[in-house]
Amino acid sequence: MTKGLEQNGKSNTQIRYTYDMATQPALAEKIRQIFRMLDASLGQQHWWPAGSAFEVVVGAYLTQNTTWANVERAIGNLREAGVLSVSGIRDTPAAELEGMLRPAGYFRQKAARLKQFVAYLDSKYAGSLDALFARPTEALRDELLGLPGIGPETADSILLYAANREVFVVDAYTRRVFERHGLTEADARYDDIRLRVQEALAGETEGFYAGNTPATARAVSGSANPLKPKEGLNGPPADETTISAVGVVPHAPSAASQMERSELSRRYNEFHAQIVQTAKHFCVKTTPKCDHCPLRTLLKPESRS
Ligand code: SF4
Repeated sequence: MTKGLEQNGKSNTQIRYTYDMATQPALAEKIRQIFRMLDASLGQQHWWPAGSAFEVVVGAYLTQNTTWANVERAIGNLREAGVLSVSGIRDTPAAELEGMLRPAGYFRQKAARLKQFVAYLDSKYAGSLDALFARPTEALRDELLGLPGIGPETADSILLYAANREVFVVDAYTRRVFERHGLTEADARYDDIRLRVQEALAGETEGFYAGNTPATARAVSGSANPLKPKEGLNGPPADETTISAVGVVPHAPSAASQMERSELSRRYNEFHAQIVQTAKHFCVKTTPKCDHCPLRTLLKPESRS
């Protein structure tokens, strides 16, 4: 069964939760430790850069197998043409839509999939994304996974960043950082990693994200200087100069990043975004830059690159 570009032939309907966090308290604590260190060093990231929940959905489709810069160009084309909406995608002829999506690659397939998504919304929810998002989380996840072109990463991106659900997104960056810190194996299943992180962060009891922090208070204290290193909770934070020097710049707050969401959803949101920044700027594919990474104190000196 082939459903999405990201699935590599694996059927997501076969995935079962087999990981028992209760037997792995040390692993859960390690995940929380990474979360605290990245939060202390990198701060609030304001992901996802979108003006609406529907734009997040479009971006989640388009980002498959391409860079975000290419997605931005394609979304810019949609915006410029005034078709970055359910009705816009519905009413734009396929050939025109393909032309606008060309910068994102696989543009014919992606145009078809966006049209299929809108057709599904039309047929089941009278074209209302809000009506689709009114479904309970697990039912909504199953429904999204049943659509062409939506695998687990895309479904969870939509759930977390567009529908504001308490779901963590696992991507190649997460796998790379976790593998290098011995938290997961190369063949770990998507939902096993997702569940490990979800359970670990749900049990977080320290710091800004420990729950009961009103979103408004958090937004005020977190936005003044998100890159300012805070007191390290688990070793010294990467210094501000180093972080700025490698170009780690948080995104500007967007309508999507500022949508109302629970503290746990916010925690998953920020952790995923912080992992992406860490992997892009420090934990690069070939030669990781451990000496400058916020997580460097977690590795023994002899195993740092
Ligand atoms: S760059 Fe090094 S310290 Fe940073 S996440 Fe990767 S392996 Fe860990």
